[in-house]
Amino acid sequence: MTSSRFTRRRLVSAIAGAGAALPFLGRVAFARQAAARAPNRPLIVTSKTFAQVREKITGAGMAALQNGGSALDAAEKAVNVSESDPLDTTVGYGGDPNEEGFLQLDASIMSGRDGCASGAVAALENIRTPVSVARLVMERTDHSMLVGKGALKFARMHGFKEEDLLTDQARDHWREWKENLNPRDYYFGPKDRPGARPAPRTPGDLEDLRRRFEDLDSITLLVLDGHGDIAGATSTVGHHFKIVGRVGDSPIIGAGLYVDNAVGAAGATGHGDEIIRHCASFHVVEKMRDGLSPQQACEFVCRRAIERHDGRPMFNFKLVALDRHGDYGCCSVRGRVDAATKALTGQGFFVHDAAGARLEEGRGLLPPLTDEELAALPWR
Ligand code: ASP
Repeated sequence: MTSSRFTRRRLVSAIAGAGAALPFLGRVAFARQAAARAPNRPLIVTSKTFAQVREKITGAGMAALQNGGSALDAAEKAVNVSESDPLDTTVGYGGDPNEEGFLQLDASIMSGRDGCASGAVAALENIRTPVSVARLVMERTDHSMLVGKGALKFARMHGFKEEDLLTDQARDHWREWKENLNPRDYYFGPKDRPGARPAPRTPGDLEDLRRRFEDLDSITLLVLDGHGDIAGATSTVGHHFKIVGRVGDSPIIGAGLYVDNAVGAAGATGHGDEIIRHCASFHVVEKMRDGLSPQQACEFVCRRAIERHDGRPMFNFKLVALDRHGDYGCCSVRGRVDAATKALTGQGFFVHDAAGARLEEGRGLLPPLTDEELAALPWR
């Protein structure tokens, strides 16, 4: 009797113990499985899904690797493509300006080798390829970030040419925003007469807000090269029509980007101010260090952000990650509802490896903001 009671109690406590340990055991098992597989490398993962540029971007990264370049070279060259393309309105040349009509650019780069070196620039004006300036901050100074006039001076010192980055299309977009800023101001749009201004909160206004809060698409790009080295880079114009001097997550190491050769890398895009508050990329890498897969780690950090906003975050961001074995993942706080299947999906991310370049769907945790929620956000 005694012995059978003892046995049962032991059995119950063994089951309970195993239950508590299960998530951990699962993670260890996952890490072992991943280690046993041949690593999937080289591999490039980017948040950038814009159809006109995504393949050119990762193609440039792969070409750099094929020509003997490092993960860092590949990350820089790939992001340069996004920065230089006028169609890409969230990054570099052709991007939307700040509220006063000029561009202030943020960028960062980080190498998993060399003790996780990093460089960044913020509020940099008139330079087409800020990520290349960030790389020089990393390699040619003892600092990790230069901003504004100092960053521009440093870029000029290294031979970067100043140019007007505002395209006609971006200027039109900005002027239209300015002309419709306030029904009682003194600007007229081309079709407006005094007293006949468009009412605020029209469907167009809501679309503009949705874009501002949900569809941010600056670039974060992660590379695992054939030797197992990892690098990452970001670049952005920030939020379109942002306040002059505003700096987002992209140049902040640990927020928009984090890389560690021993574990993997993570990067972010979307509402940068929230990404900063959550130290999102650092957190993803640390969860991978604990044994979570890249997908699980991205989901963990998005879920944490949702919890901290009582389940109703009025923003969106997207996280991408890869680990040193070449596994990868993506999750966004808010997904989108697929028109055909009605399924909730993440906003997608772009992957390039030996199997080719392709768009993959990340996981979205919450549905998009409703029109009512958007209309209730602080206006203008
Ligand atoms: N994360 C960027 C920022 O807040 C914006 C973006 O992703 O487009 O500056």
